[in-house]
Amino acid sequence: MRAMEILEPRSVEEAVSFLRQYGDEARIIAGGTAVVLMLQNRLISPACLVSLGRIDSLNYIRREPGVGLRIGALTPIRDAETSALVRERFPILAETFGKVANVRVRNAATVGGNLAEADYASDPPAVLVGLRARVKAVSQRGEREIPLTDFFRDFYETALAPDEVLTEVVVPEPPPGLRSAYIKYVTRSSEDRPCIGTAAFVDLDEGGRCRELRVVINAVAETPQEIAEAEQMAIGQQLTDEVVGAAAERYAEAIEPLADMRGSAWYRTQMIRVFVRRAIEQAVAGNSGDGGGALTPRSALVPRSALVPRSALVPQPPLPNLGEGAGGEGPA
Ligand SMILES: Cc1cc2nc3c(=O)[nH]c(=O)nc-3n(C[C@H](O)[C@H](O)[C@H](O)COP(=O)(O)OP(=O)(O)OC[C@H]3O[C@@H](n4cnc5c(N)ncnc54)[C@H](O)[C@@H]3O)c2cc1C
Repeated sequence: MRAMEILEPRSVEEAVSFLRQYGDEARIIAGGTAVVLMLQNRLISPACLVSLGRIDSLNYIRREPGVGLRIGALTPIRDAETSALVRERFPILAETFGKVANVRVRNAATVGGNLAEADYASDPPAVLVGLRARVKAVSQRGEREIPLTDFFRDFYETALAPDEVLTEVVVPEPPPGLRSAYIKYVTRSSEDRPCIGTAAFVDLDEGGRCRELRVVINAVAETPQEIAEAEQMAIGQQLTDEVVGAAAERYAEAIEPLADMRGSAWYRTQMIRVFVRRAIEQAVAGNSGDGGGALTPRSALVPRSALVPRSALVPQPPLPNLGEGAGGEGPA
């Protein structure tokens, strides 16, 4: 491995000036939970790391009336999970942050790093896309906001330019009464990334008809998936079994899933059908903040014949052992 310089700017201005100076040779490091693995596996070999760790001004959580929640990019995921403000105002978000990996990872990993990494199998993106959050990006050219609906471009690719620092996540206040659920479904250990993560947001009118439905799915394709046409089908309708089932079916038809060690493409299509339905049902039943109740054992969700043999799955390198398990919901 070649020698690497580590730069520790004290301000965003200093950080973006380093990024400008080093260009393609620089890599930002925040909590380091992903970057260190990339370095260890020689996926990257930058000449310098620009560490954001000393920029204290990027570590905050506050609520601004009329705007919503502002989370500094350097806020540890664990702090966002345990924040009284997030728990009270955006409980679905606190619960979702609590489903990332394990406590050791969540203590180091940052909210901004999770989004900037753009791993297809992360948990927070589906919920933040569904909440119509946006991020702030700063470079020497100035500051801009990027809606998360436009942020994720491809596997590990975002709308950020190489010289931009993600500084803040802004989560607008949801409409009063918005019901929500996030279900993380894991097929390996409880602390693993999801095989499929499904966020559902439902707004019902006084008569119980659907005013708005948003369903966003992680881990089934290169970016979070939301199928507007399926959501539209439910508008103005009572969310009966048939209506919810039809929306779930549309998601299953529209998404061409990937295959990895957590499940084959065929298996993921079956799980999309199951979890879109289940997430909508949990959102309707739970009111805002139910991050997804206990899951039925997998054996009860799909016929045994539907389960894919291990040999059909694409092998991937093992994840490092970063500690005890917590957080995920999976088959009993
Ligand atoms: C064992 C293990 C289990 C995991 N399980 C889960 C899981 O279940 N669910 C889940 O969602 N995630 C999971 N993760 C991923 C984890 O959430 C991410 O590694 C973490 O959020 C990345 O944050 P970080 O601060 O450590 O980023 P870093 O590793 O420092 O950086 C990640 C990437 O983002 C870039 N970056 C970081 N901050 C910024 C910024 N402010 N502006 C611009 N670019 C930036 C870096 O250059 C790098 O490309 C797991 C990770 C591990 C190691």
